[in-house]
Amino acid sequence: MSERVRSVLALGSNLGASRDTLVRAVADLVEPDGVSLYALSPVARTKPVGGPEQPDFLNMVIEVESSLAPLELLAHCQEVEEKHQRTRTVRWGPRTLDVDIITYGSWTSDDPTLTIPHPRAATRAFVLQPWAWMDPGARLNGRLVSELAAEAPDLPGLVPFEEDQGG
Ligand code: ADP
Ligand code: MG
Repeated sequence: MSERVRSVLALGSNLGASRDTLVRAVADLVEPDGVSLYALSPVARTKPVGGPEQPDFLNMVIEVESSLAPLELLAHCQEVEEKHQRTRTVRWGPRTLDVDIITYGSWTSDDPTLTIPHPRAATRAFVLQPWAWMDPGARLNGRLVSELAAEAPDLPGLVPFEEDQGG
């Protein structure tokens, strides 16, 4: 059996029934034999960063163990995005589902097709804060993820998602 690598994946949605989309996307992401769920975060409600005027996002992260190669994992994440009918009309615009690969073991890559660690993760509270909730000891680029979250400019726009807020 091939070696399984742990990866952190970040999920976001701000169109449609976002909470249901996230739950179904997690199930779809860990459905293949080669991918299993290791940990998952609570859901955060976040103000959009940049882009046009658009609804709040729901964001979460999961940690998976997989036997997929990096580009296979990216293709799998993109298939799950497609399944949830992601519309990608405007860059940074609203989407039913975005799945980004934040880390892939200790592997790194500068390739624009798959940049690992994700180049913007270290400054985005919508990735860092759910990640810190999931794994308080997690580190990114040698820093505690919780410390990076505390410094992220979008942290004031983030609150724990509560069921009665809708979304
Ligand atoms: P974003 O997530 O930055 O809002 P997209 O989801 O539209 O934008 O992704 C655009 C491209 O980013 C994808 O086609 C993919 O090839 C590339 N990409 C580079 N690194 C990563 C990564 N770590 N995770 C996901 N996609 C990535
Ligand atoms: Mg993406």
